[in-house]
Parts: sequence; structure tokens; C-alpha cells
Amino acid sequence: MDDIVRYLQDKEGEMVSLLRDLVLIESPSSEPHLTEKMGNYLSEKFIEMTGGTFTKLPSDDYSSHIRAEWGEGERQLLIVTHFDTVWPEGTLEDMPFEIKDGKAYGPGTFDMKGGIVQALYAIQSLKDLNKHLNKKIVLMMTSDEELGSPTSKDYIMAEAEKSDAVFVLEPSQGSQGALKTARKGVGTYDITIHGVSSHAGIEPEKGASAIEELAEQITYLSNLTDLDKGTSVNVGIIDGGSSKNVIAEEAHAVVDVRVQTQEEMDRVALLIEQIKSHDEDIEIDIEGEIYRPPLERTDEIEALFDRASDLARDYLGFELEEESTGGGSDANFTASLSPTLDGLGAVGDGAHAQHEHLVVKEMPKRSALLAMLLCDYGSN
Ligand SMILES: [Zn+2]
Repeated sequence: MDDIVRYLQDKEGEMVSLLRDLVLIESPSSEPHLTEKMGNYLSEKFIEMTGGTFTKLPSDDYSSHIRAEWGEGERQLLIVTHFDTVWPEGTLEDMPFEIKDGKAYGPGTFDMKGGIVQALYAIQSLKDLNKHLNKKIVLMMTSDEELGSPTSKDYIMAEAEKSDAVFVLEPSQGSQGALKTARKGVGTYDITIHGVSSHAGIEPEKGASAIEELAEQITYLSNLTDLDKGTSVNVGIIDGGSSKNVIAEEAHAVVDVRVQTQEEMDRVALLIEQIKSHDEDIEIDIEGEIYRPPLERTDEIEALFDRASDLARDYLGFELEEESTGGGSDANFTASLSPTLDGLGAVGDGAHAQHEHLVVKEMPKRSALLAMLLCDYGSN
């Protein structure tokens, strides 16, 4: 394992330069002509660095996802990354790629182009150091994660099903770079209320207010929050009505739901989907679902984390920490199919924020941690 650590320590400069190349190719999820470029660049880079192969997986609405493969074996280990970012085209003008005080700034550095660089170098180190694993490594690089992985989800789950372990290169958490061993499930619901309009001054008795109904439903929804169980239901956006003297015909709410356990997911989803109006003249349409199930910290996940933490202590000289988070990732989809470790990507701060950056000297270390995990799980 020491050889892996040394090999990657020497690659810090190269890693920064690849990170720069990736950041300079802007890749917002909703611009397929841009993410396609990013995908093409990464596929070629993968071949160049590892001598592996890749396939493009078509997506109906976004650009192709990339499934890259290295090594041989009946079974496989899966690395999950995404190359789309939340940053629109042109962001680089105000938020250029730059290195300051040992940190690399720019759109997508932390979430998660740095993670992709670390994954590519981890696989390259295994190849260059002639590490022969008894499993192949599959690297998924997808184009729509920031949108909830609508078209990559099925591909990722199919690969997870065939994998002995899944490593997700989302950013780590906090200044110590903690891994993420639990994530909340995430859902969105769109609620539209159809009432009956009427002149509020002349014929108020003929109307049925969609706004009044929505007000009652907001209270009902907010009361589903149970912080002790890790459940929160937030009515984040509302609108409705057309004029102050008209009884509102329509009102609308967008609701965000977070759950910590499958049990809570089932309970809350049912209570939202079965909402009934208080007035027979009012109809309620509900669209949406809990689209990312919770990632619960199972014994298998604990074992994976313990192994990572031993490797970090023995070969890299640091104590690895673990945390849970309310944010979702592709790990939410894979965890029920194969033991999953998330947050193995960059160490830094500011995902989706102006000050997004990663800590340069951590890149070789985190890349080595992944390479050692692959080596370890690929030899038993
Ligand atoms: Zn991400």
C-alpha cells in the first residue's frame, strides 16, 4: 500500500492540471451540448490514463452517461461520479479557476470534478503499479446528478446490483473531510388546489377558496415534521389567487421532504399522497414522490467505513471521520443494493456556493485512500 501512497503523492501537480482542464469545460446539467463535451473529454482521458474501455449510455433528456471499465473479473467494484455541475455557462467569468493558499477555486472543483480526478488517478496508480485485482472496476460518470439523476439512476442501480462495494466520490464533509455514512431520503411534491372562483364582494357564498384550503394543508403538512425521527416536511414555495376581490380559484405549493429511515419514508409518503380537501367543491392534485430513498447506516456500511478508517490511519496518518447529512446523492440509490461508502471525493468547502474550492494537498491522499480500498476489496 505504501507504493500507492508514494505514487500518488508525486502526482499532485498533474492532478491540479487535470482539475483545471475539467473546470474549464463548463458542464451545467441542463445544457447537453456542454455536458456531452465533458463526457467525451473524460472518456478519452480514461483510455489514455488506464488503458481501459468505455461505453456511452444514452439519456433521453440530457447528454450520454459514461460507463468506464478497467481490469478483469466476474464481479466488480463500482465508483460513482458525476460531471455535471449546478453552474450555468459563463460562470467562469466571475468565478475563474484559481489556486490561492493551497486551495483550488472554481465552479465544480469540489462538487465533484476533484473527485473525478482522484478516481482517475487512483485507477491509474493500480495499473502503473501492476496491482492485479480479482474484480473489475467500473467507473460511472454521469451527466444529470444535480437534477436528481432522472436518466442515470437506472444505470447506476443496475451496476450497483452487480457490485461487491460502491464508492461514491461526492465531496467529503467539514474541514476534516468526513465520509458520509448516512444520508436522508429526499422528495418533492407539487400540490395544486382547484377551488371555485366568485366575486368576493357580491357573491362570496358561491366561491370555494383554494387559498383557504391551501392554508389548512400547509398546517397539516408542516405537522408531519418529526425532528426526533429525522423527518422534515417544508412547504417552500406557495402561490395562488388572481385578485384581492376574487375568491381564489387556484393555489399551489411545492413541498420538500427529508426522511432518515425507510419506515418514515413510507409513513410520510402515504400521508401526503392521501391528502383530502376540507370542502367537496375543492379538488387537490398531488404530483411527486420521495425520489431518493434514505441511505441508512447498516452494519455493512459500518464495516466499509472501518476498513477505510484503518487504511487512512495506517498509511496516510490521519483519523478518518464519518457524518450523516440531510442532502441526497446517488449513494441513496445504491446503498440498498450494495454496501456503499460516500463522501470519498474532495476535501474542501462551498458546494453550490461562490466560494467553492478544494484543498490541493488532500487530493493525492484521498485518491490513495480510494486506490487502497479498491486494492483491498479487489483482493478478497
Ligand atoms: Zn455532487
